[in-house]
Amino acid sequence: MNAETDALLKRIEELEAQLDKARLWQAADGADDTPAYIQEMEGRFRAIADTAPVLIWLAGPDKLCFFFNKGWLDFTGRTIEEELGNGWMEGVHPDDLERCLAIYTSHFEERKEFSIDYRLRRHDGQYRWISDKGVPRYTITGTFIGYVGGCMDIHDQITFSEQLERMVEERTRQLKHSEQFLQSVLNTASNSIASYEAMRNEVGKIMDFRIVYSNEEQFSKIARDGGSIVGRTCREVYPGIFRNGVFEKLVRCVETGQSDSYQIDVRRDGELFWFEASIEKLEDSVTVTARNISEELKSDLKLKDLNRQLKIQNSLFKHSEENANIGSYAWNVETNELECSDNLYRLIGHQPQEFAPSFGQFLSFLHADDRHQAIRDGIRAYETKVIIQNTYRVITRNGEIRHFRLSGNFIREGDNHLMIGALQDVTKDIELTDALHKKNLELRRNNEELASFSYVASHDLQEPLRKIRAFSSRIMEKEAHHFSENTKDYFLRIITASARMQNLIEALLSYSGTSGVNFKFVEVDLNSILDEVKSDLEELILEKNAVVEVQKLPVLPVIPVQFHQLMQNLIGNGIKYSNPERQPVVRVTSTIVEEKDGQGPLCRINVTDNGIGFDQRYENRIFDLFQRLHGKNEYEGTGIGLAICKKIVQNHHGYITAEGTPGVGSVFHVFIPVTASQ
Ligand code: ADP
Repeated sequence: MNAETDALLKRIEELEAQLDKARLWQAADGADDTPAYIQEMEGRFRAIADTAPVLIWLAGPDKLCFFFNKGWLDFTGRTIEEELGNGWMEGVHPDDLERCLAIYTSHFEERKEFSIDYRLRRHDGQYRWISDKGVPRYTITGTFIGYVGGCMDIHDQITFSEQLERMVEERTRQLKHSEQFLQSVLNTASNSIASYEAMRNEVGKIMDFRIVYSNEEQFSKIARDGGSIVGRTCREVYPGIFRNGVFEKLVRCVETGQSDSYQIDVRRDGELFWFEASIEKLEDSVTVTARNISEELKSDLKLKDLNRQLKIQNSLFKHSEENANIGSYAWNVETNELECSDNLYRLIGHQPQEFAPSFGQFLSFLHADDRHQAIRDGIRAYETKVIIQNTYRVITRNGEIRHFRLSGNFIREGDNHLMIGALQDVTKDIELTDALHKKNLELRRNNEELASFSYVASHDLQEPLRKIRAFSSRIMEKEAHHFSENTKDYFLRIITASARMQNLIEALLSYSGTSGVNFKFVEVDLNSILDEVKSDLEELILEKNAVVEVQKLPVLPVIPVQFHQLMQNLIGNGIKYSNPERQPVVRVTSTIVEEKDGQGPLCRINVTDNGIGFDQRYENRIFDLFQRLHGKNEYEGTGIGLAICKKIVQNHHGYITAEGTPGVGSVFHVFIPVTASQ
């Protein structure tokens, strides 16, 4: 309620007091002019009330209103009769009425001043906010006579302040929103933003900076203690900047307004971070924007390292390509693009990258007879994505024919298939293999010739020898009595020598009999062969009182006749080279062993004796033709037996070794593959 209304209410009060006084006088004196005075006073009161720019009402001690000024009636558009008593309440906004009455009644009872804001219906039906101030009224003698009230239309004021409030609210909301937005942008930004306020000494020199803002997370990372940094000084948080020149840059930025930038590295928890920062002046502060560039730098370093490794690998690859006579290629089967290494060009007699390579071009270098095969292989590789190694002849620039082995793999690169591989010049290998093959053939022919020669020779020699033996024996039988002792001795020697020669020839015959190639392998129970051997050696066994023990042997694919001879020679030697001081014992055992080169299992057959043994130094020699360690007078023999054994074992694609200990005995190990090979 404004001062104007207050003054008016005061004036009304005064008038009422005067009126009151007049009424008292009238009651006391009965003066005649008093009613006129009272009327005048009342008239004046109404005139004032009615002309007042406010709405005025009067209520009696019974709370009922008995007066409303013109202003009120004009405002509500109702008659005085409608308003009197409690009629005015009809104009009060239903939402405000209860509150209004509560204040009115309670203050009335306590005779207290009140002020209520409520909405009152105007003549045009609009509810307008009014401010109603009620003041208790008393006679001059102090009797309570009701209330006088003055109301002001404060509608515009209220709505304006409501609007204002709404505007302020809206602005605050917007501000909060944009602040939050900024904060969230700053927090999620990979850039760190901070504001450092200059801290000056008494003469205005910048001594330090206070951190007044930062999107914490990023800057905290580089803070010395990793903690919160807002409100603290740079000296506390980043003491390093006073040593690395950054502080000077910050000072220069504040003092000159010049923007600047710098890079720093920070080691935290054993990890190194790199930051790139730019600085801008803002009043007496600097705004620092820093970016963590550690990952970029690391990946840059990684890239450099990879490049370096690649360079090394390339150079190694180049080097090894040259050394190994290899050229590499990468062929994109979809686009038909072909890339070839420098050395591939060189291998076919061209300068590196002398022409753009293509599959067609590659074919044109091939020997005409190999071209179809190469095309077939190419199509098959394209369809199956599997490359079969093959060798093609290439005609080099100077007309030389060279052999290249092509190998490779398919790899996927996006939608494309790349065939990557190498071409190796294998001319030398092929030439060597060819030469070896030729030599082998030659050797086999020679061997066969030799075998047939020795067969023919020994066979043909047998006949004259038989005659020498027969006639010498006949002479000794019939004519011996004519001969001197000397002549007899000579004849006996002729007979012994020719017998020996017969043995040698027979041995040679059997040796040459083992060199054929077309022997048949048969799966045989080796025990049955050993039984036959034992029975063939029966006489010798009896003569030497020998024991031959044969363990259970397996069924193996062997050439039966040869295996028989092998066992007979070994067991025979075991008995023959026995120690005269003990009973000869020959033991035959077998085990299955894994071949060292991984060529499958082998059967190892050991023939062990307790004979005279031999010096291990001669292990290899005893398997050579005509090699004997013991004199023919001590132990008769030809020196062919073990050579035959070696040959038989080789025919079985195996090998034979021997271990001997003089005076103790010997063991012969025969190794034969378990699976048959013709
Ligand atoms: P030989 O007809 O002389 O027995 P071999 O080829 O069978 O010819 O044997 C060659 C030599 O190996 C023999 O002269 C002998 O010195 C030695 N030898 C062979 N078997 C045995 C053995 N079981 N114990 C000792 N020495 C042996």
